[in-house]
Amino acid sequence: MSSTLVNEIPDSKRSRLGLRVAPAVAVSSTADSTLGGAHRVRLNSAYIIALESAGLVPVVVPPLSRPEAARSIVSRVEGIVLTGGEDVDPALYGQARHEKGGEPNRDRDDTEIALIAAARHMHRPVLAICRGPQILNVALGGTLYQDISSDVPGSLVHDAADRRTSRVHDVEIEPGSRIGRAMGATRISVNSLHHQSARDVAPGLRVTARAPDGIIEGLESDTDGWWVIAVQWHPEEMNDSPESWDRGLFRAFADRLAEV
Ligand code: MN
Repeated sequence: MSSTLVNEIPDSKRSRLGLRVAPAVAVSSTADSTLGGAHRVRLNSAYIIALESAGLVPVVVPPLSRPEAARSIVSRVEGIVLTGGEDVDPALYGQARHEKGGEPNRDRDDTEIALIAAARHMHRPVLAICRGPQILNVALGGTLYQDISSDVPGSLVHDAADRRTSRVHDVEIEPGSRIGRAMGATRISVNSLHHQSARDVAPGLRVTARAPDGIIEGLESDTDGWWVIAVQWHPEEMNDSPESWDRGLFRAFADRLAEV
């Protein structure tokens, strides 16, 4: 039976038949004027490919001029994906901007903070990637390293921007953690396209993955009630990788959405 036909069956009958429509997930994006001078909404297609590969329906959410609309969006989807992008405005965690900090995008910050608040309130699962763990940590009261290479002497190269799909540093994952179970491994190697990371961890989150230099690479919620996985690398870029680790994160998210 095609998915179109399944969608035409009333909800009550569909659940009786054991059929499910693919869960829809809100995917945050950015808006900027870097292409042709027009202000455009933009999202790396790798997120769409990875989510669709896991059987999910991505719904792109732009930075909103009315972030309070996040509640109505979250109420209509099964989960939330927070994607990579701009540096979070350091004013949101009480710091002045570092000289290597990027131009903030407050519409995006405010929209994602509202999405996180709504997701927590409604217990919607969250998959957060790159900027995702950063805005998540800030939204819940944590702080960031504004520039790892300046703030953490001796740190590894985390900003390998020219090697999007290369595994450039190791990550140690806590055995039995949500991330560890999703990836099926406790030591992996990841791509790394970031110059910031979580510093002081917010209440309600715990660290379950670190790089060998101590930089936080994975966060998750500390309760079962709100399912959150947040990784500092880019699993969406590794959808075609011979190792299944990164696809495992999307699979775990999709499995959780199917349970709810
Ligand atoms: Mn890294």
